[in-house]
Amino acid sequence: MNDPLNPPLGKPSGPRELSLCPCKSRETYAACCQPFHLGQAKPDTALQLMRSRYSAYFFRLADYLVSTTHPDTREPDLKSHLDQTIHQTNWCFLTIITMSKGGPDDKVGKVEFVANYFADGQPYELHERSRFKRYKGAWKYLDAKG
Ligand SMILES: [Zn+2]
Repeated sequence: MNDPLNPPLGKPSGPRELSLCPCKSRETYAACCQPFHLGQAKPDTALQLMRSRYSAYFFRLADYLVSTTHPDTREPDLKSHLDQTIHQTNWCFLTIITMSKGGPDDKVGKVEFVANYFADGQPYELHERSRFKRYKGAWKYLDAKG
């Protein structure tokens, strides 16, 4: 794994890279979720994947969300669904509640979180228990319970 404070950068630094990561890790985007989004690194833990998926929703990276959904639960129309809906939501905050397993040596993991967003100008709260499972060694999002 790369040094999280000195990740390899594939592109020149710009405002997005230097700003704090949307996942609220208090790291810069470049030092946090960007290497995952660029395919330069893979999350070691289910929590890292969960955070990077939140950031992907924030930046509307539908392809990343598709590629990190487990094939067992990936709907064939996921990409077109995301393309239609991802711009309707403005994510504004993420709070991790609990996690179990999901570590570098685990095969499955769970993360409970609350994500806050606006849609049609109205604030909403998503409280979810997400399950994660490895596929070919890489963490993938499996499914969720509200
Ligand atoms: Zn992040």
